[in-house]
Amino acid sequence: MSTLADPVPGGRPGDVERAAALAGELTGRGVHGVVLAYVDTAGVTRVKTVPTARLASAAAWGVGMSPVFDTFLADDSIVTTDVLGSPDGDLRLYPDLDRLVALVGQPGWAWAPVDRITQEGEPHPGCGRTVLRRIVAEAAERHGLAFRAGIEIEWSVGQGPPGGDFVPATTGPAYSAARQVELSDCTADLLAALAAQGVEVEQLHPEYAAGQFEISVGALDPVAAADRSVLVRQTVRAVSARHGLAVSFAPAVVGRGVGNGGHLHLSAWRDGVNLHSGSTGRYGMTAEAESFAAGILARLPALTAVTAPSPASYLRLRPSQWAGVFTAWGRETREAAVRVVTGTAGVRDQAANLEVKPVDLAANPYLALACAIAAGLDGLTSLVPLPEEITGDPARLDAEEAAARGVRRLPASLGEAVEEFRGDTVLRAALGPVLADAVTAVRLGEIAAVTGLDDDQVAAAYRWKY
Ligand code: GLU
Ligand code: MG
Repeated sequence: MSTLADPVPGGRPGDVERAAALAGELTGRGVHGVVLAYVDTAGVTRVKTVPTARLASAAAWGVGMSPVFDTFLADDSIVTTDVLGSPDGDLRLYPDLDRLVALVGQPGWAWAPVDRITQEGEPHPGCGRTVLRRIVAEAAERHGLAFRAGIEIEWSVGQGPPGGDFVPATTGPAYSAARQVELSDCTADLLAALAAQGVEVEQLHPEYAAGQFEISVGALDPVAAADRSVLVRQTVRAVSARHGLAVSFAPAVVGRGVGNGGHLHLSAWRDGVNLHSGSTGRYGMTAEAESFAAGILARLPALTAVTAPSPASYLRLRPSQWAGVFTAWGRETREAAVRVVTGTAGVRDQAANLEVKPVDLAANPYLALACAIAAGLDGLTSLVPLPEEITGDPARLDAEEAAARGVRRLPASLGEAVEEFRGDTVLRAALGPVLADAVTAVRLGEIAAVTGLDDDQVAAAYRWKY
């Protein structure tokens, strides 16, 4: 279970001694530096690094970094809000020592996610990890609920180094043994690195699009799941680079075709019992789990501004590409935005969950989980009824039938998504006004940055950013 307490100046209780001991151990293992990572509003992972000998100091007093990154765009230009985007000010980055790991794919380095606080010791309102910690803590206090989450990771492997056009590094067909053999050495090293870093990989397979692969990992509490998503991508990138390969987690590496998703798996639990299984609702869901799913479905159009935050996200979010672009749910329905996963008979009490599909890896995973949980909780507490299940591809429904069943096409552009987000009081409240305004400003900035570009140019603009 992740620490839900905020960092404090001087360090969380016990952290300084622990960091000193860890630093000694890491130095003995040849680790010279620690990467301190967080994800900005645009979805880019930003880092500072410290020599291993400075880890105890970082645990006590944090490491400085400007708050300006909260309004960076993916191309490193800067937009502003009422409170963010100015060159003034500084923040302190505090590593979460529970998540610190030596990086096998980057010998000599360790890695840890950070929370950001102000120089006065207050939580920074732009810190997505802090927002997610707060939402998880409040759900436990107010509703007695805990969550388990996992983020699938799809990526495209190109001939390296990264930059310029995408030239797939494989020629084998989707899901094929041919493609698996082509990247055999790299993927074996990847599995070894992830295992050594404590990441339980459930599967690794060649995916549909050219050069595409996917990893799914075991579920954890939401904060740890978001951390894991960042760590897995750091590892995929590093191991692939050592094999001369270029990887892209961008939602679309080219203008047309199946993209890279980052499907979110989420389940709500009370007193160790999975609310998505073993009850009298549809597919064994409890009434609360049905309403949790309904809450997510109802807010999906606004949620896409957070879960699909890039102009390139909308190259992926097209019908009939398994990305789930309709507000529909179904059991094992890959074209519904919310897929009810029951798991196999025998393990359902552990495995049952919801898969939210219109999520990609340009999304800040902390913000995506925070907003998905907030939407679900709003549904659960207001007892929102779950509509009828949809089977097959919702794209086949005519307008009248879709309207009758409450099936809406999700935003077809980032501009539409931002408009939905701006009107959504629940999601804005979940993020808080500072971060909600940053989301809006950054999305509008990204839209302005691609004005006049065609689909291929949009894909090219974001291809190597995430
Ligand atoms: N690549 C698809 C997407 O963009 C997902 C394929 C799958 O169902 O795993 O979401
Ligand atoms: Mg997949």
